[in-house]
Amino acid sequence: MFKFASRVESIELSQIRKMFEISNENAINLGIGEPDFNIPQNIKIAMKNAIDKNYSNYTPNKGYIELREEIVKKFDKENNIKTNPDNIIVTAGASEGLYLCSQALFEKNDEVIIPDPGFLSYEACVKLSEAEAISTECKMEDDFKLKSDEVLSKINKNTKAIILNSPSNPTGAVMDKEDIKAIADLSTDYDFTIISDEIYEKIIYESKHYSPGKYSDNVITINGFSKTYAMTGLRIAYLTANENYIEELLKVHQYCIACASSISQKGAYEALKGDQSFVNKMVDEFKRRRDLIAKRLDELGLECSQLDGAFYAFPQVENSLEYVQKAVKAGVITVPGSGFGQTCDCNVRMSYATSYENIEEAMNRLEKINITQ
Ligand code: PMP
Repeated sequence: MFKFASRVESIELSQIRKMFEISNENAINLGIGEPDFNIPQNIKIAMKNAIDKNYSNYTPNKGYIELREEIVKKFDKENNIKTNPDNIIVTAGASEGLYLCSQALFEKNDEVIIPDPGFLSYEACVKLSEAEAISTECKMEDDFKLKSDEVLSKINKNTKAIILNSPSNPTGAVMDKEDIKAIADLSTDYDFTIISDEIYEKIIYESKHYSPGKYSDNVITINGFSKTYAMTGLRIAYLTANENYIEELLKVHQYCIACASSISQKGAYEALKGDQSFVNKMVDEFKRRRDLIAKRLDELGLECSQLDGAFYAFPQVENSLEYVQKAVKAGVITVPGSGFGQTCDCNVRMSYATSYENIEEAMNRLEKINITQ
């Protein structure tokens, strides 16, 4: 019988997709991981112009130089990270960035610390590189913020890297500056790499975002356009790291993608250079919905951590798989916490990247299952 590579057999398809498959068309979908906004008009125009002007050839492997120059300015202005166009790679989504970091850096016997709960790609990418994923608990009592002392307790001579994600999918947690800085210092002291997934950087409410790349030279910073500019399907993102990393990362990028889509790169350039009012409006709307979902979950008696960023709530229930099934029957799609790690069988992820009215109706439906539970 034909046998697949064990590294591929060791991972599973995403539980989120499975939830969509069992739902019906009248269900309200709180399983969504992308902004429910249309791409801004100026970005559309830039991409239409790019098509008309025949920007359909391969681009430089690292991406168009003008785009990389804008990314350099963005890192300097917003993240206090000093970089240069040679040290930027434009990728086909942050997903590619995560994958190529894993392929370039990890191998058998390496340990990679990942947040638990955390975005499901992290464990999959680590396993596909044949390294071992070391889950580090982000505790509900800490509002799911990853703490530097937890990280320290997982470090040993095999520690190759840690993946950070603030603001977090699936919890909405935003890490504290002290922890970011302390983990950056650990990466220097113990000589491991930080892969900082900052894709939700702009979707943040009362808190402030800090990049570890400001504090250590051992950091690969990943960011992108999917969430900030509602460009998920355009598959466009970027990373920066110092020159020691870039050449090795570029090898993987060259052979697996060659370059990110030329048209999407033109849209990305406009996204960075153009008017930012779209982002502010979108984040204001997410905040309005965040306030609603936090209030309604509280009224339902479902304990929830502070929701500081991204567009997810991660409330506690008795048994997440049972809850999710009851919610589907009541017409609401949610995602069980068990899909995001080993520590969260009692949480469900609810995305508020859907309309205010949908959230209200979803909460009304969930109220009924609470009463009959
Ligand atoms: N990181 C996190 C934390 C995410 O939630 C997602 C998308 N759900 C990604 C990375 C991937 O983003 P992209 O669309 O840029 O591949």
